[in-house]
Amino acid sequence: RAAAVVVEFDGQGRSADGHPLALLANVGGAADALAAAEARAEGVGLFRTEFCFLGRTDAPSVDEQVIAYRGVLAAFPGRKVVVRTLDAGSDKPLPFANVDDEENPALGVRGLRIARRSPRLLDDQLRALALAAAAESALVEVMAPMVATVEEAAEFAERARGAGIDRVGIMIETPSAALLATEIFEVVDFVSLGTNDLAQYTLAADRLLSELGDLNDPWQPAVLRLIGAVGAAGRAAGKPVGVCGEAGADPALAPVLAGLGVTSLSMAPRALGRVGAALAAVDQDACRRAADAALAAPTASAAREAVGAVLADVS
Ligand code: PEP
Ligand code: MG
Repeated sequence: RAAAVVVEFDGQGRSADGHPLALLANVGGAADALAAAEARAEGVGLFRTEFCFLGRTDAPSVDEQVIAYRGVLAAFPGRKVVVRTLDAGSDKPLPFANVDDEENPALGVRGLRIARRSPRLLDDQLRALALAAAAESALVEVMAPMVATVEEAAEFAERARGAGIDRVGIMIETPSAALLATEIFEVVDFVSLGTNDLAQYTLAADRLLSELGDLNDPWQPAVLRLIGAVGAAGRAAGKPVGVCGEAGADPALAPVLAGLGVTSLSMAPRALGRVGAALAAVDQDACRRAADAALAAPTASAAREAVGAVLADVS
């Protein structure tokens, strides 16, 4: 059996012709953040704050939250840390935030929707994040999960800015948000594609069912075309488009995402080396051709094949 090849990440994501594409880490707390810094992640592209409070029956106080958030920010002085507000519900229920009598929790009151019922929970978290950001030197950006409308994006941005957060974004993980990206860019500073949920909601296939894994695939043409629409909207607005779902950890997909207009990829730290190497092997022109080939493909397997053929030609 061949030994697994470990590729070290040199700390800077870029294409063969030197075009930068930040490679960031997904973390759930201070221990993850230290491991991510050790793996030379350029920053954090997704801090899943709900992971700090799993199993809690009472809401964490602002002071408790400040401590938890500072633990992550301290690992990345002077670097970007994108913090996601609580994404409670569905696959990540939090007893203090969710009700358990929903028939379809993936379509229920989860993520930003919790603020409809408990605005205080969101406002306390935003205050804690502003305090943590003021106490550490990381460049804190804050985004909301599970946004479906322009009003939700605008209201979140207003509340976050009112709490003292400078850079505000949303996750694009519903087809609705992807289709409205142009309008959403008018009210936020950046977006990050949550491709796990974007695939789940686009293909209408529960992400927790491994039996439906072929549908929960970011190579599905409908998902790639939505990502392409968001990338084009980001380019037109001159604003960043990140990817922080599992798609960001797929070395074969990285050139496609770059060609679709994605400006950063966030992933589990162990994926940084392989994704970095895949990007460093191709230039911008090849990324664009790979993206065009992926967008033209009618099926996920045809997309993989077409991209493989384009990239085989250049390496
Ligand atoms: C996603 O949906 O792609 C994502 C990054 O968020 P999570 O997996 O935590 O729902
Ligand atoms: Mg998600």
